[in-house]
Amino acid sequence: MLSEQEKFFKCPFCLEKISMILDLSENGQQSYTEDCEVCCNPILITYEASNLKLISFRMEKAYE
Ligand SMILES: [Zn+2]
Repeated sequence: MLSEQEKFFKCPFCLEKISMILDLSENGQQSYTEDCEVCCNPILITYEASNLKLISFRMEKAYE
């Protein structure tokens, strides 16, 4: 079973549609910062996984 899922969303900085690969193999909430592939600004990703399913997903600017 796939433990990785590609999540599409709009970058909060440049509003371009981008995607990131989420690792769902660890249960619970995780957060990390990743640079937008278009504008290179840091995006804070917070998501929660349970039994290889994505329960919640949130992204925001890592700084203002
Ligand atoms: Zn961007």
